[in-house]
Amino acid sequence: MLVAPLHPQENERQQALDDLEVLDTPADPYMESLVRLTRDLFKVEQVLISLVDRDRQWFKARVGLQACSTSRDASFCAHAILDPQKTLVVPDARQDERFADNPLVLGAPNIRFYAGHPLVAASGLPVGTLCLLSSSARRLAAEEESRLRDLAQLVEGYLRLKGLSEHTRQLREAVTREQRKALLDPLTQIWNRAALAHFYPGEQAIASSAQEVIGILYIDLDHFKAVNDSHGHGVGDQVLVEAARRIASSLRPSDLLLRLGGEEFAVVARVTAVDQLRTIAERVRAGIAGKTFETAAGPLQVRASLGAASGAPQTAAETLLAQADAALYQAKHGGRDRVCLHPPVASAG
Ligand code: GH3
Ligand code: MG
Ligand code: MG
Repeated sequence: MLVAPLHPQENERQQALDDLEVLDTPADPYMESLVRLTRDLFKVEQVLISLVDRDRQWFKARVGLQACSTSRDASFCAHAILDPQKTLVVPDARQDERFADNPLVLGAPNIRFYAGHPLVAASGLPVGTLCLLSSSARRLAAEEESRLRDLAQLVEGYLRLKGLSEHTRQLREAVTREQRKALLDPLTQIWNRAALAHFYPGEQAIASSAQEVIGILYIDLDHFKAVNDSHGHGVGDQVLVEAARRIASSLRPSDLLLRLGGEEFAVVARVTAVDQLRTIAERVRAGIAGKTFETAAGPLQVRASLGAASGAPQTAAETLLAQADAALYQAKHGGRDRVCLHPPVASAG
């Protein structure tokens, strides 16, 4: 195996990547949709948005692969970024001296075909690739190569805009890049419970100056244990990943999504009225129940119950979380697959 040499301007390249503030950030529904569309378009097994970091490649979005990063030494993309103008195409890795004894070729995911188009930061330096992987050898036709280039351009544009956004600025102020690593849930690639303490004060400050209230949704998948019991933990994990993705795509960009643990998620949403919180909660519920989940065990119907609570900006996160949990308890007892608000709204009449 030939480990790729470092980029000739490695320090500047790494700086350009760091400046995007995208490493160790939560899964993004737009990027997730793009990799899924790309997979379907090219009919390959895996598609990655891979960012080449110091000693690893970290995937901003992935489909068909469980790992959220792999070592830089074994990285195909580390080769691809050496020529930022060109798509690196490896029709059969077993026949290529750079990759024939690569652990990702000899073992899972048994890569044979690789095509990666470099993603370039505004400075012109390459930060990663949009890449296609398959366990069968194949070629990339000229028109396919040009499609891949177009898709890579969409990713680049999105990463640059994201880097300039208000949301990214807040993120940068709330946590350092090193802290972020410890705050991401590796399975679903959304924030974990510990992230609440880091981001909540910022939400309070914005809510206070914008005269908003803070809402918290407590989301719990219904009868999730039965998924594990009937289909195994692996399928359970697939359901968790898809549930996180669907919740994220039901939210507004400013909402904060966390995995509290197990099959439980929370959302922090600043709203001007409680009705708005109910609308968001209902959209999350419908986003999960509306369409079956495609899993290795076939399509599964998944549902979730939600509890919601809201309060003035100074309300502690623990208080709202406990109230939302109490409302969730009601939702479970009321028959599941529903939203309940705290305090319970008295029924009319
Ligand atoms: P309810 O409708 O009352 O919420 O029932 P439930 O089955 O969803 O709730 P319960 O608390 O009984 O079960 C949650 C299950 O989630 C039990 C646990 O094994 C499973 N679980 C927790 N973390 C993970 C995980 O990371 N992956 C998988 N596959 N399962 C997990
Ligand atoms: Mg639970
Ligand atoms: Mg549950």
